[in-house]
Amino acid sequence: MKFNKHLNDIKTYEAGKPIELVVREYGIKDVVKLASNENPRGCGKKVKKVVAENIDKMSLYPDDSMYELKQKLSKKFGVKNDNIIIGAGSDQIIEFAVRAKGKGAILSAKVTFAMYDIYAKQNGLHVIKTPSITHNLDEFKKLYKLHKDKISIIFLCLPNNPLGECVDKKDVYSFLKDIDKDVLVVVDGAYQEYASFKDKSKKISPKNLIKTFPNCLYIGTFSKAYGLGGMRVGYGIAQKNIISNLYKLRPPFNITSLSLKAATVALENEKFVQRSLKENLKELKKYELLAKKLNIKYIPSFTNFITFLFEDEKNSTKISDLMLKKGIIVRNLASYGLNGIRVTIGTKKQNRRFFEVFKKIYM
Ligand SMILES: *Cc1c(COP(=O)(O)O)cnc(C)c1O
Repeated sequence: MKFNKHLNDIKTYEAGKPIELVVREYGIKDVVKLASNENPRGCGKKVKKVVAENIDKMSLYPDDSMYELKQKLSKKFGVKNDNIIIGAGSDQIIEFAVRAKGKGAILSAKVTFAMYDIYAKQNGLHVIKTPSITHNLDEFKKLYKLHKDKISIIFLCLPNNPLGECVDKKDVYSFLKDIDKDVLVVVDGAYQEYASFKDKSKKISPKNLIKTFPNCLYIGTFSKAYGLGGMRVGYGIAQKNIISNLYKLRPPFNITSLSLKAATVALENEKFVQRSLKENLKELKKYELLAKKLNIKYIPSFTNFITFLFEDEKNSTKISDLMLKKGIIVRNLASYGLNGIRVTIGTKKQNRRFFEVFKKIYM
């Protein structure tokens, strides 16, 4: 059977292994998942309570205007409701962005969020990547100039998943000055909460970003710091003309009634997020310490994960398989062409277990 030829060179997205699979395959009950950068503390109590109270909403379609959630977001970010679009995860906003441009090429860092590449190829766009694995804006600039006639979207992942680095805001702004107003620049802020908590020089304000550079689309998510990965809620913030075009691609009722409730209430519970950020940073330092002790190369992280890069005599696939058999799921980076692993920073208890098992396997 013949299919859309664009599908030929797409590698299917490899999600972090679910807990259920490890339970099934290895019969381990107490599985620690440090593979998908979720908040290990879950979400706030109030969110759970409100979702439970609203369980009857399950039978009804959600408010498709998403008024309440947009109100909360517009207040948080100081923008108008019509500067906001809600997606089934920020993934869906990425998809809208690619389809809204529809042709040409995307430009991104060599090792970055895999969905940019996948959505681009699905829609027949070319993919241009920098030689460096992490974000190097000089290389971005050079490639942009070289392929100016082709590049329609630039993706900046700030901070970058799966490597954890984050470009300073001032460098991002000076880069954006040289970009043509017809090029859509997507600033993916999935981990902005973590980055700006650790280092103010990384903080991007969506309001200021879209005012200064009207060709930018900022995207954020409830899946990471807000602890709602399973609810699938993300958002895009941009000038009206960008949002109204993305809206043309949005299916009706693209998030569920309960997701809508959960995200709305999560925004009233910022204390929970702040506590998570604080604990995350404290635990992240333990991972850096371990890497130093074991002489493992790591990328200083501005997120809730850390990436270890191994020397040739170690093999990331072997190491992650052995960890799996001990009930700990980490993300092997072999599919990104790297001999390394990405580990989500867990709770204190989960991390202790990681350290114990990893040391034995690594040494
Ligand atoms: C997790 C992640 C997203 C999207 O997550 P959703 O769950 O779809 O909101 C987007 N970009 C990056 C870089 C991510 O790590």
